Amino acid sequence: MGKLGGFLQIERRGVPYRDAHERARDYREFMVVRPEQELREQGARCMDCGVPFCHNGCPLGNLIPDWNDLVYRDRWREAIVQLHATNNFPDFTGRLCPAPCEAACVLEIREGDAVTIKQIEHAIVERAFAEGWIKAEPPSPRHLSGQRVAVVGSGPAGMAAAQQLRRAGHDVTLFERDEAAGGLVRFGVPDFKIEKRIVERRVQQLVEEGVELRCGVDVGRDLTVQELRESFDAVVLATGSRVPRDLAVPGRELQGVHFAMDYLYQRNRFITRELAAGNALRSPDGALPTGALHSPDGAGSAPTAAAASVASEGEPITAAGKHVVVIGGGDTGADCVGNALREGAASIVQLELLPEPPAHRPDDRTPWPEWPLKYRLSYAMEEAREEGVGEQDYAVTTTRFSGDADGGVAALHVAQAQPRPPFAPVEGTERELPAQLVLLAMGFLHPEQELLDQLGVEKDPRGNVKAVAPYTTSVEGVFAAGDARRGQSLIVWAINEGRQCARMVDRYLAGKRNGRAGVSGAVPEDGALLGHADADEGPEGPPSHVSGGVSVE
Ligand SMILES: Cc1cc2nc3c(=O)[nH]c(=O)nc-3n(C[C@H](O)[C@H](O)[C@H](O)COP(=O)(O)OP(=O)(O)OC[C@H]3O[C@@H](n4cnc5c(N)ncnc54)[C@H](O)[C@@H]3O)c2cc1C
Ligand code: SF4
Repeated sequence: MGKLGGFLQIERRGVPYRDAHERARDYREFMVVRPEQELREQGARCMDCGVPFCHNGCPLGNLIPDWNDLVYRDRWREAIVQLHATNNFPDFTGRLCPAPCEAACVLEIREGDAVTIKQIEHAIVERAFAEGWIKAEPPSPRHLSGQRVAVVGSGPAGMAAAQQLRRAGHDVTLFERDEAAGGLVRFGVPDFKIEKRIVERRVQQLVEEGVELRCGVDVGRDLTVQELRESFDAVVLATGSRVPRDLAVPGRELQGVHFAMDYLYQRNRFITRELAAGNALRSPDGALPTGALHSPDGAGSAPTAAAASVASEGEPITAAGKHVVVIGGGDTGADCVGNALREGAASIVQLELLPEPPAHRPDDRTPWPEWPLKYRLSYAMEEAREEGVGEQDYAVTTTRFSGDADGGVAALHVAQAQPRPPFAPVEGTERELPAQLVLLAMGFLHPEQELLDQLGVEKDPRGNVKAVAPYTTSVEGVFAAGDARRGQSLIVWAINEGRQCARMVDRYLAGKRNGRAGVSGAVPEDGALLGHADADEGPEGPPSHVSGGVSVE
């Protein structure tokens, strides 16, 4: 365990962010890594609980007390082995995960006192990269199966599935319709949350391990389903949940009303192109010095030529100089606020339909160790308020948009919403907000249906791919993982699903090799190539732990 009684002597020191005023002027990551000594002290606070609730709170079942202790004892190299044992991309989760592990930490019974698990994770993986401990792990020639797997979609679920399957010895092709791999982590989440060089180095690792990456291929259009099924022994659907929820109110057709993802894709591509061209981007109140987008170590983002290519983006969407309204209070909405601020919006209002949550954990609704439904100020709203251009409002419903003479949106008509569905407007509370750009960030309905229908896979009532057995669809040899299966969720879940799904595919292929091709839902019991145990039974269950096949030299 950490230091005996360490939590009584050492105060929690949470994740530091760069100063809000400073960071709102550039696109560099805002998370700061604490000095090593401080991190070791934070690791020392871990009590190595008999029942480590942190571990249960983590969808990946990360071995948290183990690596907290290893960091405390300055054994970083062993810590990365432990970390990789359950998580292929701790560099993604160490930056982006909301950390349900910390909400479940026993020390969090005193609210705000949890072990700083996420920043320790982040520090371990960055130290490991800096030391050169993380290398490609191609399968040994002895373990090659000769079987071919197509993974469709290169978000965190597809990347994790591809890596696990390749390391288990299969020939893996990772298809991606965008010009670069990474899914929402590359094209949805902005650079200031995760610089794209972080995604790119993991993509390179996959390629070095022997995963064939085919970007710019829209499966179902550029490659027919028949070709897909004939060329591969198994298919993993990791296409995400990309159909956005719309707002059916009068005026929706006005120019300047867009889905958030259209804006975020454009912003991410723009930043990548500018970085590739070595350009500095302008901050709201003046020009940034050249290189201001780059990391302190000068590395900056490392976009590939493909990523930097000008993709067809449709109508340009810009927030510069405009009154911007973001409808939706979640991660997507916050990332719109962060981008609009950096573009130099005149004002930014973020609206949420639901009432404002309480400031502290409501014990009657979400007691420890559950994820607390409480108010959290987003990084982006903190910045926007600091700059004096942002505000956030709760329990607001939009009744209509009105336009100007040119057909552009000019105002949003809103009212206070009733606290319960259908969140009807409260009479007498109508008001108008100026709006020249409106971004709809109200969540996602389900995966795009076209490919699923072509394959003929069954869907659940929400339109997600239905798993008739763990990660196994109704069509033989077709599996599903990530948001495509569970609906729009979190990166940590996507990685977990990719890993678990890979295990099911591996077992299915082993059965096939042995002449016992399993039909869906009837994968062979004893055919596992690497002797893996079963995958999770369902989305909510913690994974059973097996080696991720990841080791450090
Ligand atoms: C703006 C935004 C911010 C977010 N921020 C966070 C955060 O901070 N923390 C967090 O934990 N989660 C966050 N999330 C959620 C998280 O990004 C997703 O849950 C996660 O990326 C899902 O991974 P996935 O691999 O299932 O799907 P995705 O990341 O959506 O990847 C699916 C991939 O499949 C590709 N694809 C789809 N159809 C085809 C096809 N027919 N042929 C080829 N390729 C195809 C897509 O182009 C895409 O690259 C955020 C989501 C959004 C939208
Ligand atoms: S619950 Fe908190 S204190 Fe207990 S083992 Fe996990 S991180 Fe350590």
